[in-house]
Amino acid sequence: MSEHIAPLAADTVPAWDETVDVVVVGYGIAGASAALEAQRAGAEVLVVEGTSGPGGASITSSGIFYLGGGTALQRELGHEDDPETMYRFLLASSSTPDAAIVRAYCSGSPAHFDWLEAQGVPFERSYFGGKSVILTDTTGLFSTGNEKVWPYREIARPAPRGHKVAGQGEHAGAVAMNAILATCRAEQVPAMVDTRVSALVTGDEGGVVGVRARRDGSDVYLRARRGVVLGTGGFTFNPAMLAEHVPQLAATSEPLGIPSNDGSGIVLGMSAGAGTHGMGGIIATGSFYPPSGLIRGILVNQRGERFVAEDSYHGRTAAFIMEQPDQKAYLIVDAETFAYPKITSHRHSLVDGWETVEEMEQALAMPAGALVTTLSTYNECAERGEDVQFLKHPDWLVPLTNGPWAAFDLSFTTSSYLFMTLGGLRTNADAQVLTPQGHPVVGLYAAGACASTIAQDGKGYASGLSLGPGSFFGRIAGCHAARRRAV
Ligand SMILES: Cc1cc2nc3c(=O)[nH]c(=O)nc-3n(C[C@H](O)[C@H](O)[C@H](O)COP(=O)(O)OP(=O)(O)OC[C@H]3O[C@@H](n4cnc5c(N)ncnc54)[C@H](O)[C@@H]3O)c2cc1C
Repeated sequence: MSEHIAPLAADTVPAWDETVDVVVVGYGIAGASAALEAQRAGAEVLVVEGTSGPGGASITSSGIFYLGGGTALQRELGHEDDPETMYRFLLASSSTPDAAIVRAYCSGSPAHFDWLEAQGVPFERSYFGGKSVILTDTTGLFSTGNEKVWPYREIARPAPRGHKVAGQGEHAGAVAMNAILATCRAEQVPAMVDTRVSALVTGDEGGVVGVRARRDGSDVYLRARRGVVLGTGGFTFNPAMLAEHVPQLAATSEPLGIPSNDGSGIVLGMSAGAGTHGMGGIIATGSFYPPSGLIRGILVNQRGERFVAEDSYHGRTAAFIMEQPDQKAYLIVDAETFAYPKITSHRHSLVDGWETVEEMEQALAMPAGALVTTLSTYNECAERGEDVQFLKHPDWLVPLTNGPWAAFDLSFTTSSYLFMTLGGLRTNADAQVLTPQGHPVVGLYAAGACASTIAQDGKGYASGLSLGPGSFFGRIAGCHAARRRAV
């Protein structure tokens, strides 16, 4: 880690400016959820936010929560799901899963949906059955991951688990976050804004007993009798940490979030002895669909070979594109499947159209015969309704035999992929921060994008796996901290 902040020993603190039970650092969805539950559990709470107002990246989000196991919304819309099926799916989706964390999330997911509604977060009883990246209307439920993609569809019965808040537009997450913040205000959760935490304070035995923060040009010292909860977001806006952990990002990659998602909570946690997990994991998105008809095309690399099932979740596709030679990829379509990608901001440019596949292969500088072979093999499989190579779902299989053919450039190095980090502090199912050896750092909790929980990389990500676990483990952190013996 390029930056290192040492913790402060409690006996060097000049004077405590405030003493509470639980200090929550960061006022996004993880911090707000932690604060609400800690206060409800009887703790005196203080939320400390570095920027001038609450909300974090959470308030700018699309408002999708990945929930399931039989939520009220799933049940009322007639979609069968249970915690065990969801658990099998998420376990398979995670590169190095912590089974206890995944289990806790799946078992608690139906009740967590109820909790969100009880905080005033609205979910419409409506379902979208198509394939989409986000929904800009108020529809409540849709599939947002790889559930129907092989091998996942054989591991766990697919169920739609993207629970989307009833808000319009691309940033409907504001509807969810504003509801939670209104609940915080109604319950008079104390908060300080423009107050950035710069160090953790540790006690005699190394446990975390407070924080130092910068406010109005001066240092303030805030004592936490029962615990400190970090909810500071990821490190998407920290170039040094990105260079260290995610060197495969391209010059055209665009960070998704807010500038204060600069990894400070991760660095603070490490200063107190915390370990990290999955720091190289990101979710990158540069979806070529909608329109979903483009999924009928094929994705090939510079060698003219397919490398992923085209019906994968867009984050999974991007993760595979990042691994291809020179990070190059093309979407190949024929005259029947041709359409322009709707999301123009990803800048997937149309390379050209060609009368023959041989001409296309040559123009794309692929090895002679490679694309011709790939396409004819694919077309034979599509005729039979069976993709033997990547088991793309038969719903999307059609022979691409109607020339002319066209290619869109989806290369990671030229298109514009949005990304955010998924790695963070190592935690357990109680949201306690752990040392590299797996022991709790006494008095320290983390939730949201500064913690590593369920979502670990783009190949297994599903939309909603940030807001869902972030709010869920935020609540757990708040409850656990509130119940600790005061020091
Ligand atoms: C456009 C967009 C759309 C998205 N859509 C979705 C979606 O639909 N579903 C989904 O699951 N995820 C989505 N995400 C990701 C998701 O929004 C984030 O992962 C999630 O909001 C993180 O929540 P958090 O509470 O951990 O962090 P944040 O909401 O970012 O809150 C962290 C807070 O901590 C503060 N902070 C940081 N350091 C300090 C410090 N040292 N001292 C004090 N305060 C500090 C920050 O200022 C910030 O307010 C989206 C992200 C974006 C940008």
